[in-house]
Amino acid sequence: MASSSSSSSSSTEQTKFSVLVSLFNWISKTKTSSRKRSKFRKFLDTFCSPSDYFSAIRLILPNLDRERGTYGLKESVLAVSLIDALGMSRDSPDALKLINWRKGGPKTTGANAGNFPLVAAEMLQRRQGMASGGVTIGELNELLDKLASSENRAEKTAVLATLITKTNTQEMKWIIMILLKDLKLGISEKSIFHEFHPDAEDLFNVTCDLKLVCEKLKDRNQRHKRQDIEVGKAVRPQLAMRVSDAHAAWKKLHGKEVVVECKFDGDRIQIHKNGAEVHYFSRNFLDHSEYAHGMSDIIVQNVLDERCILDGEMLVWDTSLNRFAEFGSNQEIDVAFDILYVGDTSVIHRTLKERQELLRKVVKPVKGRLEIIVPDGGLNAHRLPGSEREPCCSLIAYNVDDIEKFFKETIENRAEGIVLKDLGSKWEPSDRSGKWLKLKPEYIRAGSDLDVLIIGGYYGSGRRGGEVAQFLLGLAERPAPNMYPRRVGNGLSDEELDTVVSKLKPYFRKNEYPKKSPPSFYQVTNNSKERPDVWIENPDKSIILSITSDIRTISSEVFAAPYNLRFPRIDRVRYDKPWHECLDVQSFVELVNSSNGT
Ligand code: ATP
Repeated sequence: MASSSSSSSSSTEQTKFSVLVSLFNWISKTKTSSRKRSKFRKFLDTFCSPSDYFSAIRLILPNLDRERGTYGLKESVLAVSLIDALGMSRDSPDALKLINWRKGGPKTTGANAGNFPLVAAEMLQRRQGMASGGVTIGELNELLDKLASSENRAEKTAVLATLITKTNTQEMKWIIMILLKDLKLGISEKSIFHEFHPDAEDLFNVTCDLKLVCEKLKDRNQRHKRQDIEVGKAVRPQLAMRVSDAHAAWKKLHGKEVVVECKFDGDRIQIHKNGAEVHYFSRNFLDHSEYAHGMSDIIVQNVLDERCILDGEMLVWDTSLNRFAEFGSNQEIDVAFDILYVGDTSVIHRTLKERQELLRKVVKPVKGRLEIIVPDGGLNAHRLPGSEREPCCSLIAYNVDDIEKFFKETIENRAEGIVLKDLGSKWEPSDRSGKWLKLKPEYIRAGSDLDVLIIGGYYGSGRRGGEVAQFLLGLAERPAPNMYPRRVGNGLSDEELDTVVSKLKPYFRKNEYPKKSPPSFYQVTNNSKERPDVWIENPDKSIILSITSDIRTISSEVFAAPYNLRFPRIDRVRYDKPWHECLDVQSFVELVNSSNGT
């Protein structure tokens, strides 16, 4: 490892970023976890000061760092910003290669296609010197802060340009990985935490605060008293273990008092109320202040305790149809299924049964805005609001038949599945050991085969970078040969996928940036962002895929077809079926209606 600073416990801020880059290179190449861990330890002991571990650790675990805002630089924006920062023309071959990073290109090494940092490094290599600019960890953090706080792309581009002058390609490649928040080091967050301090993971789970963990746990040999959750600090959520069927679930919870709940299809949300201040934390502990608009008053007025943490799901409620809707429309509704903090105490150590009692006392439900999910909580509370047909949302199960019946009813009413919970269990941050179980429907084949035609393809990333890995599918419109598309990716083995792709390759027409309109016989909605990377030029040369899907369909806004399939999967390739025998829209709609019972 480079040794720009070798005295024990030197200042982390003054340590050169190149030292950290050596650590990254070493860890990513090393196979065994114990050697990765000990190198990390050595880095901390040699190059960091205990008073400031955070400066380095936030660069090693960038996805857990919440001290600076988001960069707003996903691959596509980052590509253009880097191109501008280098003063290149956006039409130059290198620029296009980066913009089309998934596809690769004539000069891209095959293995790099689909790996953004590597494609970017290839481009930078031809423009950057070999020598490190000597940027320190402290300086890098300052520049990253500046990047996150920049309000427009011109400012971001200027910061990237500074970074480029202060680094070499190796360093820049790792900075890009830090920006994308994925270092691919092959060492788990758990291992890094354990090596750092035996109590680091626990403390992080209850605070989601990396800075605090680094500051409180400076001395590895001094144990930290287990900390409880606090209002205002996100806590990593309790999770559910997947089970295959009702029998397996019942067996797993044998002898326990069990509650079954509907599995809502929204976003996990943790609501922290502190007087008039309300925060909404997502599953990856981002603070969603946008929910505050319209929701906070309801929380302040109807959560009867001054300080409280609710655990639940954020959904969208369709006010005209009186039912849950898709995201992006209508108004948010919070469905609280648990309570973690009341008054001045954490209640996660109490049983679920006791917590549900508290939930009932503390939260006053507001129809269509704030609901609580507890058994026997009155009509409003335990039925989905709105339609009389909606099933019960929460029920005590006494036997496996209760679970099966509840599951069937819930699925028929288009919920995602069910969650089973041990009523005697505590709520544990980040736990997925089986106190909560989830049961979802298996893929159900529609009454007859869904045989659809491949009309386009999308390049994959990683292992399948530069090769088509997903297909765009079409239905026929008879008599006019229009195609209605739907994207599908999984179900085929690598070998099967390779065969289909090589058969179709001669007919691929690249849909280069900026993406053009489809060939005339394909009909896609105009505002659709779903443009494939390649179109199949001649549908009569294409191949039919038989797909299965969750038969509960949702109406489609993205695609031109009237319905969109949920969770489609390729079942098999129909080399035996001529292209024009693919399913048509009319038959598809009939199929959907019959499976939905209309
Ligand atoms: P999935 O993709 O199946 O939602 P996941 O990995 O996001 O799974 P799991 O821990 O497997 O998360 O399942 C728990 C998730 O289910 C919760 O994070 C929450 O968002 C959602 N959920 C919906 N309804 C409930 C409920 N009644 N109780 C608990 N979790 C629920």
